[in-house]
Amino acid sequence: MGSDDLVTPMTGPGAPDAALLQAIVQSAMDAIVVLDAEQRIVSFNPAAEQMFRCSAAAALGQPLDRFLPARYREQHQRHIAAFGITGGTTRSMGHLRPLTGLRANGEEFPIEATIARVDVRGAPYFAAIVRDITARLAAEASLRRQVELLNLAYDAIFTWTWDGEITFWNAGAERLYGYPATHAVGRRSRELLRTDHPAGGMEIAQALEDHRVWEGELIHRRRDGRVVVVESRHVLVEGEGGRYVLEADRDITERRQAEAEHARSVAREAAARAEAAAAAAARDRLQDILDDLPGGVVLMTEPEGRVELTNAAMRQMIRGPADPDAHAPVCSQDLVFAWLDGSLVGANERPGLRALRGERVQNQQLLLVRPDGTTIPIAVHVALLRDGPGMAHRVIVFVQDVTQLRQAEQLKDDFLALVSHELRTPLSVIHGGAQVLVNKPHLDEDMRRELLLDVVAESERLERLLSNLLALTDITAGRLQAALEPVLLEPLIARTAADFRRRSAVHTFTVEVDRSLPPAEADPDLLEVVVRNLYENAIKYAPHGGAVRTTAEVDGESVVIRVADEGIGTAPEHVAGVFERFRRVGGDHRVRGMGLGLYLCRGLIDAQGGTIEASSPGPGQGSTFTVTLPVARGWAASDHT
Ligand code: ADP
Repeated sequence: MGSDDLVTPMTGPGAPDAALLQAIVQSAMDAIVVLDAEQRIVSFNPAAEQMFRCSAAAALGQPLDRFLPARYREQHQRHIAAFGITGGTTRSMGHLRPLTGLRANGEEFPIEATIARVDVRGAPYFAAIVRDITARLAAEASLRRQVELLNLAYDAIFTWTWDGEITFWNAGAERLYGYPATHAVGRRSRELLRTDHPAGGMEIAQALEDHRVWEGELIHRRRDGRVVVVESRHVLVEGEGGRYVLEADRDITERRQAEAEHARSVAREAAARAEAAAAAAARDRLQDILDDLPGGVVLMTEPEGRVELTNAAMRQMIRGPADPDAHAPVCSQDLVFAWLDGSLVGANERPGLRALRGERVQNQQLLLVRPDGTTIPIAVHVALLRDGPGMAHRVIVFVQDVTQLRQAEQLKDDFLALVSHELRTPLSVIHGGAQVLVNKPHLDEDMRRELLLDVVAESERLERLLSNLLALTDITAGRLQAALEPVLLEPLIARTAADFRRRSAVHTFTVEVDRSLPPAEADPDLLEVVVRNLYENAIKYAPHGGAVRTTAEVDGESVVIRVADEGIGTAPEHVAGVFERFRRVGGDHRVRGMGLGLYLCRGLIDAQGGTIEASSPGPGQGSTFTVTLPVARGWAASDHT
């Protein structure tokens, strides 16, 4: 039977035309090989010739084994036999074993085959359709390798059709999103992952259309609901099955969280720095304010006694203004307090601690013990600083240096004692004299006159004392106003000297003042008080008498008046001190006085714009007091020299 017979025998309605069948067989892409009952090849189409590298002429009549590798021939025979027994009519592609063909040149290649049994006029034939799957297997292997590689990738990689349906889902995607491939494939990716597009979905589609690539950030949700931020790359691929998108996602949630945390910590740091700077600025401002305060301020933490802040006055109080360390911070060891008797204040009795215990610390009189062991009297006040509700562990200690206050108190006490003493003496002379005059009416005229002169002298003394005190009060209160005018010195001095001549028989008052001397710019009343005080002292401090010489001359724009006596004089170291209040340096303490006369003189001369100085060659050698006043305005000093 020839191959032509095989393609013609089918009959019945719809049976294809033989010529058509022949054309299909000849032009088929697959190899079609027909065998007869003896397994001989009775038909071998051009595709078979091509596949097995064997012409139909050479193949016809040959057993099919001829195109199978020897090791599969026996197995093939068994299949054919079984095929005959089971009476099956078809086997689909790939169901036949072996799946390896043998070309005429001995080369083996993978095949896929379908075999069908057809009975033609009672005789069985077998039609085998064979496909060379070398290329397909290679493609599949390469695909498998690619999938394996994709599965190795850490990133989630999946593909979806242009409609969004997932077609491939790698192990990374399973890990990242929690869905197995079996669940993901076939679903729409955006719905599955509940994608948020910070960039906008349309923008991605547009970028893929335009550039075939899109890169950016997406927010997905995992199967467990957690949000994942991914860095995503989409590539548009034009495949055989149409367009699809390959999406590779990298989890950057942690990176984003780290970045956010970093940003937060940077912001926190910046806020902390700003807060610290503000606190430092506030502290600086506070420090400036405190430094301007005249009293000492210490901010300390109790009960430890740690010093947080001190002001300039406090540091100066501790170290003295000349100390080079005056600006160095003060620590608690520098703050030593003593009671007024000099014994140290114990740690528990510190003013700060006492205030913390609820005791009132106001105007507490203590001594501040300086590092060099000297002490200064202080008054201490403490205020509590409440940091929180009811919480106080910081205190502000205000320290006031009361040295001057103490000195003033001392001065006041001394002054009162002196004034009472100075008042009592003339008063007792006046009182005693007056009583004698009253009780003894028959006193002789000389005695009577002497007593009356004493009373007059002491009342004058009282009067001078009181006017001195009043002038002093005016000076201290800043009320003293000098009424300046041109004052001719000669008459003023001559008049005063004459007055004093009457008061002392043992002193010689000489006045050497040129009548043509230009007048001084002065207040005549105040100037007279000064001259009187100087004369008074000249008598007091020259108890044995002697000359009291007054001169006046012009020196440049000034008039210089000098009063020189021959009294007890002054040691050079005491000369400058004689003008201080209550200072009675080097003088004879039996001589009555309050140490206020020269102090007053200096105040009065200051008020007239002049100067007053004392000089003495030494004890026992007399003293000279020099008053300098400006020449009266409009008087050219040089005209009168
Ligand atoms: P008082 O005379 O009341 O003591 P003053 O202020 O007038 O006070 O004088 C102060 C001191 O200066 C006197 O105590 C005395 O020691 C000294 N002193 C003043 N005048 C003379 C003088 N002419 N000669 C020597 N010492 C004088």
